[in-house]
Amino acid sequence: MHYDAIVIGLGAMGSATLYQLSKQTPHILGIDQFDPPHTLGSTHGDTRITRQAICEGLHFVPLTLRSYQIWRELETQSGQDLLTITGGLFVGQPHSTVQTRNKPGWLTTTLQAAEQFGIAHRLLDTDTLRQEFPQFRYAPNDIGYYEPEAGFLHPEWCIRVQLEQARKAGASIHTHERMIAFQPTASGVTVQTNKGQYQARKLILTTGAWVLESLRPTPFRNVLRVYRQVLYWFSIDGDYKLYTPDKMPIFILNDRGIYGFPAINGPTGGLKVATETYESPTAPDTVNRSISQAETQRMYTQFVDPNLQGIGPTCVKSVVCLYTMTPNGDFIIDQHPDYAHVLLASACSGHGFKHSAAVGQILAELALAGKTEFDISSFRFSAFSV
Ligand SMILES: Cc1cc2nc3c(=O)[nH]c(=O)nc-3n(C[C@H](O)[C@H](O)[C@H](O)COP(=O)(O)OP(=O)(O)OC[C@H]3O[C@@H](n4cnc5c(N)ncnc54)[C@H](O)[C@@H]3O)c2cc1C
Repeated sequence: MHYDAIVIGLGAMGSATLYQLSKQTPHILGIDQFDPPHTLGSTHGDTRITRQAICEGLHFVPLTLRSYQIWRELETQSGQDLLTITGGLFVGQPHSTVQTRNKPGWLTTTLQAAEQFGIAHRLLDTDTLRQEFPQFRYAPNDIGYYEPEAGFLHPEWCIRVQLEQARKAGASIHTHERMIAFQPTASGVTVQTNKGQYQARKLILTTGAWVLESLRPTPFRNVLRVYRQVLYWFSIDGDYKLYTPDKMPIFILNDRGIYGFPAINGPTGGLKVATETYESPTAPDTVNRSISQAETQRMYTQFVDPNLQGIGPTCVKSVVCLYTMTPNGDFIIDQHPDYAHVLLASACSGHGFKHSAAVGQILAELALAGKTEFDISSFRFSAFSV
């Protein structure tokens, strides 16, 4: 069988790509070393924030807006809820110099994006914040940006549904199979796995935190770093009704380094929160996946207790997850630097899920038509210096 395209890695980006390819051709193969969705990569933990006025840069806005449309299309096709609108609350000091993923001026960029793309929002002063959102503790002069169309996605369901739709359209999917190598051929690429060998016109690598293996030995390998992150669910000691999605928005307290979600797992399921840590780079096969009591306690005393009301110190669940970061928090979506028939996407930098449905469309367009309607100039290898 000579496939039109093979996708290696069926997490957030790969499942979206396979789904988009399957709209055009059934001659496609998706391969994953595990059985996605799983908990060993970057796409697990019940929820992912989505929002529209993207503070990481205006070039991301078309991706999130297109992704909203695709999530709704998938909900209609599958009958599965994927996107829950809760509103999004972003809080900080008016002239904050804190960087969000190496990008300065979160509020200025957010407001520019909202204005340019006509995204509904409200600005809230400290008194209004206290009145409308009593779940948080505020500093004097804190201001809030509230976006009514923000909310959260169910990442595991998004993967499941996209793979299911691709399979229905005729795609082949191989799980528990690992790509070991690929070689260019006259008409495309040969892929070698631990179970077989396959030919395709195009190969798409969406291997998440494992992407560095595919970039060996190009110098672009040095652009990417993998970092261990931890997601925590802390007990709700206050009135549970205040913390459900109809009362509590997703939130990012930009100056305090904490973000989180309303409670979706019942009164004893806890409230999910996280911070971001960039201590030392790691690798997906060797990362420490256990979470110590000391780091859980530190998370509570440094981030949770000072910023949230009614959340107790008992951690009901925690899980390790992986960021694959570029230096400026942008993505890489491009042809492989050394191989013409190989495309590669490392679209994480800690904020990729909300854009993943559109990233899938871009990769499918590049693979089948050789071009995309989206401006991906910031995501080309040439945008990064090595
Ligand atoms: C803690 C945390 C919180 C986050 N919060 C948000 C958020 O709120 N909002 C947001 O938009 N984004 C968020 N993100 C980012 C988002 O989750 C990621 O951008 C996205 O999940 C990355 O998906 P991926 O497809 O690149 O990787 P993955 O989903 O990990 O997929 C990679 C896949 O490739 C497979 N693979 C690798 N190598 C091989 C091989 N050789 N052969 C076969 N298969 C292979 C792996 O098994 C895996 O299934 C968060 C990330 C983390 C870690």
